[in-house]
Amino acid sequence: MAEPLLYDSLSRSLQPLTASDGETFRFYCCGPTVYGPAHIGNFRTFVIQDLLRRVVEASGLKTKHVRNITDVDDKTIRQSQTEGKSLQAFTEYWAERFHADCEALNLLEPHVEPSAVDHIEIQVRLIQRLIDKGNAYVAEDGSVYFRVTSFADYGKLSRLHEREITTAPAGTLQSDDEYDRESAADFALWKAHKEEDGPNAWPSPWGKGRPGWHLECSAMSMEYLGESFDLHSGGVDLLFPHHENEIAQSEAATGKPFSRLWFHSTHLLVEGHKMSKSLGNLFTLQDVKDRGFSPMALRYVLIAGQYRQPLNFTWDSLNAARSALRRLQQLHQSLSAAADDTSSPSPSSDWGPFQPVYDALANNLNTPDALGKLFTAAHQIERDLQASQVTREAAADLLAAYDRVLTVFGFTFDTEAAPAAAPAEVEALAAARWQAKQARDFARADALRNQLTELGWSVRDAKDGYELTPAN
Ligand code: AMP
Ligand code: ZN
Repeated sequence: MAEPLLYDSLSRSLQPLTASDGETFRFYCCGPTVYGPAHIGNFRTFVIQDLLRRVVEASGLKTKHVRNITDVDDKTIRQSQTEGKSLQAFTEYWAERFHADCEALNLLEPHVEPSAVDHIEIQVRLIQRLIDKGNAYVAEDGSVYFRVTSFADYGKLSRLHEREITTAPAGTLQSDDEYDRESAADFALWKAHKEEDGPNAWPSPWGKGRPGWHLECSAMSMEYLGESFDLHSGGVDLLFPHHENEIAQSEAATGKPFSRLWFHSTHLLVEGHKMSKSLGNLFTLQDVKDRGFSPMALRYVLIAGQYRQPLNFTWDSLNAARSALRRLQQLHQSLSAAADDTSSPSPSSDWGPFQPVYDALANNLNTPDALGKLFTAAHQIERDLQASQVTREAAADLLAAYDRVLTVFGFTFDTEAAPAAAPAEVEALAAARWQAKQARDFARADALRNQLTELGWSVRDAKDGYELTPAN
């Protein structure tokens, strides 16, 4: 089978997804900073990374997937202190919430999920290696900085030489507390302890402190994947400086190429706008569920756009996703019935009529094209089934190939089929409407029904109660 192709941000060209050791595709994804709930933009990136893994596995390779947990940085420290919690209790809580969301979105668990705090020692060792080689220096306060001018390839990922590189004296551009850097471009590998860090500091040869965020990913990726591996990934905002700095630290320390390929997904926008706290559009999976949509509908929306294009999230797109998933589920039911439930088809090793779907995915994860081809194939099968032109054996084969294709997309129907539980606000409105009806206040009952409709719920009266369902 032809290897899937992917756009590599380093060479700026399509590259085949092969395993450099001939067997296992080893890749690293920058994980979440656990200081609050992940938003649907973060999940665009994580869902696309999950899709990449599924496509690589469908192509016949094994994978080793490492995704870290960033549990020590300015944000986690600041927020845990504001809430009066220990850094550990605080970040464990948000990591757990993140995992629950990942499971609901049917993300495959990474094979290794290292946390920065659990890996301080290897980070200290990597910093020491850079100091010994002259690529890093200790500042007066005990912080350690990477000397950017010591690494000739600095800027190769972001093509810095095509932009204006700043050589402004340190202290004029960035925070004053880093004034003792040699150059403004140098970045912290180790941050000396400051009062506002509270108890969050670890011992090192340069005094108490904590690792820098860029260094964390270099140390942990190389620890679990080796000094050279196949692919490194994150949202496009991480390309510079985070990934550029990772390359510099890792390659300066080892003298070997770090990641062979670089994979960046473009950001999600909400109703045409960048997500931000001030716009109140930092939606989470919980917000999606509160509006009556399933996590699977969100997964569908996040996959439906090609990953190199900005994806514009709208609530309406979730309605369309819900209908699309229902149709896919319908086909699954029809095929299962035609194949006769008693026969369990063996897992398919070929794509049957879904070959064009896989081909589209293998072409730089062209998901809009792949979904288009999926529905074309589905339509043809539905027609054949209606015309009774499909034998039981043929239906079993089709079902096996269909299951395979659904697995690559990561679509499941269980959550879609089960009625979503209504959030408390919706339950309260429905109860108030029921009471208004009992009191024969029909105007109020109608107004409450309208409010429910606006929230995406429909209510149906039964003999002695009512039933709430997510609206179509
Ligand atoms: P963070 O938790 O902020 O470290 O981000 C986790 C991942 O989400 C990183 O790969 C980011 O690049 C990515 N990310 C952040 N915002 C967005 C967005 N609006 N759309 C897509 N990915 C994003
Ligand atoms: Zn990272």
